[in-house]
Amino acid sequence: MSTEPLIFEMGAPGRRAATLFEMDVPTRPLIDLLPAEALRQDDAPLPEVSEIEIVRHFTHLSQRNFGVDAGFYPLGSCTMKYNPKLNEDMAGLPGFARLHPLQDDDQAQGAIELVYRLEEMLSAIAGMARVTVQPSAGAHGEITGLMVIKAYHASRGEGRRNIVLIPDGAHGTNPASATLADYEIREIRTDARGGVDVDHLRELLDENVAALMMTNPNTLGVFDENIVEIARMVHEAGGQLYYDGANANAIMGLARPGDMGFDVVHFNLHKTCSTPHGGGGPGAGPIGVAPHLVPFLPGPLPARDADGGYHWEDAGEQSIGRVRANYGNFLVLVRAYTYLRFHGPDGLRQVSESAILNANYLMHALKDLYTLPFDRTCMHEFVLSANQQKARGVTAMDIAKRLLDFGMYAPTVYFPLIVPEAIMIEPTETETRETLDRFIEVMRQIDQESRTEPATVTQAPHTTTVGRLDQTLAARKPRLRWSPGDAPRTAEKSVPVGVSR
Ligand SMILES: *Cc1c(COP(=O)(O)O)cnc(C)c1O
Repeated sequence: MSTEPLIFEMGAPGRRAATLFEMDVPTRPLIDLLPAEALRQDDAPLPEVSEIEIVRHFTHLSQRNFGVDAGFYPLGSCTMKYNPKLNEDMAGLPGFARLHPLQDDDQAQGAIELVYRLEEMLSAIAGMARVTVQPSAGAHGEITGLMVIKAYHASRGEGRRNIVLIPDGAHGTNPASATLADYEIREIRTDARGGVDVDHLRELLDENVAALMMTNPNTLGVFDENIVEIARMVHEAGGQLYYDGANANAIMGLARPGDMGFDVVHFNLHKTCSTPHGGGGPGAGPIGVAPHLVPFLPGPLPARDADGGYHWEDAGEQSIGRVRANYGNFLVLVRAYTYLRFHGPDGLRQVSESAILNANYLMHALKDLYTLPFDRTCMHEFVLSANQQKARGVTAMDIAKRLLDFGMYAPTVYFPLIVPEAIMIEPTETETRETLDRFIEVMRQIDQESRTEPATVTQAPHTTTVGRLDQTLAARKPRLRWSPGDAPRTAEKSVPVGVSR
């Protein structure tokens, strides 16, 4: 690992990485327009470096980062699949990349058509009537979907419904979104097979329930076999069923949330359709809805003219209103469109089948050494518990940190909350058998180390640029940039372990 100084400690007065042309307009009168106190008296204390130094600086920084292009990235729930570079080529096409959000429709026909066709494909995959691509991420889709549900209930004179039911294994964004949408939350227990406890659900259902939010397969990686019954119960009580689509990588071409009984579905296109999203973005969280909710969708929506052209059509008066620009996070949509067209229906089914196969392969190879709390066929991911290792003084966090020494990212840890010492592993479909075997080997070695040399694990990582960070300090008081006068230092690399998106 490189320990070269960062650019801020390099350089010498007068070195330049760029040459500016002489201005061919007079600058003095412009400067005179600025108030005197806004003018700098001294030069900014910036590093002065040559071009090669600055190129090396950024190249080294990029090498200190870890991404799916650098190694295995089994971060459960996040679907860190490989992003085919074809997607980047398409997203870089000038007609897409340089599009202005307010471009006239007649100058943006291809872009509107892309959204229109993407909407068609997403509707088909989810079994929904219509889709809006406006929301910027899954969580944004959640609040948009809940607002649609709220408007629907209000339109029927049932605005009193103020409760959203959420399983205890749910992702944190579910209760957060429901709270933001001004709902009260009731938590549903998980049953012995890892699904929604149907008896508990029956107890909680009443005339004030607005919706049940679920993901299926859920965050334990298991498919809820009672979903049709659950949907019947929720609908009978007058509630709506919201599908958190973060786990859609397991179901494409195999099952449709619409057929399971869901009324609203969000997609995490950055997960399922391969936009790189480590570090928090960019994302896109389109939502699809069943026919009875279409009037409440945000608008405008793309529409097709009689002559084959496309335009944005304003939403009707029942719409909840706009949640973002028409095109949403457009270049993520371009990548998703490319991804879906590239695979086609059969390819997408194969994606899901391979993701499921890979997860089961890993699960079976590890369950003799790590506790498997719900021992059944998993979908695209599974959750282990490190409770046996913990009894030897090695926690899930230690195991996560130790994996970094082997050039792999860590699985999600301590989520879902219902599994103690949780290690949530999602290999995705894009990894080879050799990579999976290597991961198995490393996980087995770490278990062995927990028996014979636990300090090797509890003091890991040993090979990264920095060791363990104070995670609270790193989150609350991150030092994200250099300022003049900072003491010389080498790069601080932060590898946040198990941060679930
Ligand atoms: C990632 C995720 C979310 C939130 O999605 P974002 O796109 O990160 O906002 C919600 N639920 C589950 C299960 C997730 O994995």
